[in-house]
Amino acid sequence: MSKRPPHIETLAIHAGRSTDPSTGALVAPIYLTTTFERDADGSYPRGYSYSRTENPNRGQLEACLAALEGGREAVAFSSGLAVAAALIHSLTPGDHIVVPSDVYHGFRKLLDQVFGAWNIDVSFVDMTDPAQVADAVKPTTRFVWTETPSNPSLRITDLAAIAEIARKAGAVSVCDSTFATPVLQRPFDFGIDLVVHSTTKYISGHSDVVGGVLIGKEFSPLLEHLRRSQQFAGAVPSPFDCWLTMRGIETLPLRVRTQSDSALRIANFLNEHPAVERVYYPGLPSHSGHAIAVRQMVRFGGMLSFQVHGGAAEAMQVAAAVQVFTRATSLGGTHSLIEHRASIEGPLSRTPPNLLRLSIGLENVEDLVEDLESGLKPVSNKWD
Ligand SMILES: *Cc1c(COP(=O)(O)O)cnc(C)c1O
Repeated sequence: MSKRPPHIETLAIHAGRSTDPSTGALVAPIYLTTTFERDADGSYPRGYSYSRTENPNRGQLEACLAALEGGREAVAFSSGLAVAAALIHSLTPGDHIVVPSDVYHGFRKLLDQVFGAWNIDVSFVDMTDPAQVADAVKPTTRFVWTETPSNPSLRITDLAAIAEIARKAGAVSVCDSTFATPVLQRPFDFGIDLVVHSTTKYISGHSDVVGGVLIGKEFSPLLEHLRRSQQFAGAVPSPFDCWLTMRGIETLPLRVRTQSDSALRIANFLNEHPAVERVYYPGLPSHSGHAIAVRQMVRFGGMLSFQVHGGAAEAMQVAAAVQVFTRATSLGGTHSLIEHRASIEGPLSRTPPNLLRLSIGLENVEDLVEDLESGLKPVSNKWD
């Protein structure tokens, strides 16, 4: 056996999995049980007692995700935002955190509408400018949150630079790597301490399960705290959710590669289109984060955004006219989605009203290009 760890395609099929020891079943059963039998002496020799604290499907998912990301331990939650909430729960009043000004809008709502009275000191900064992060950190800074590529403008954060600033400040660096997945980006290689994914998106990959995970590069008191938060605050994923996510992971590398290749083709098409004002895709050389993305990512992902000429009405008109794309929020599934981002984000949104976000699925890319071409026609006629 070689010492080299298996490649990600192999890990996606095998990590955390084994044939079922009692039947030889290739695919793990779903352990729909809340409780587990004790031995006569009162012990739990098989390691399971109650499904909030541990469940075989959850254990398999955590082992698989830790291996995919190259970390020590993964803690699975019932949603991506439950991971963020668990991290905020680890703070005490007066603690300071640094968060990107374009952080996932749900994270802002969580801070504002759930933890608003907790007296947490938050600095929102432009994470693409490490100097702003260096200026923002203080002795009370507990963590620096990054999200790259970001949502919806696909901005790229230099993970090595931010991890170094956090380390020097004695703070934990966190990367929400949902858009990139472990296939395209390895935050631990750049010094990041904790990686977060909304597994709702690419990792489960079929728009049928909501989940989240936090992965630690090393064991730490914070990671232990987050494990306790999972077990005793109780935002745990169900055995079926874990099983579905494991099923999705088998094809994660294949899906993400195809989606990235299709997104690049579509970004190039939109970039040349007369009805399009601007395209946001880190794979385009004109994108402000392209050079860092080339260094930090393997491909550029399946997400892109673009602004049409005009305003909200023109953007809505394009979204109304497409037929292969579905008008829906979320991302990372097999179906291509189109979304008018400002209207889902609500009144606090900083997203331009003429911006549409695309999640590229697994349909034939030429069908997707044709669909966008016909969707853009009414707007192009105005601008010819
Ligand atoms: C969707 C998303 C989240 C939130 O995850 P949920 O599973 O919806 O709770 C967090 N970060 C990013 C980048 C996301 O896209």
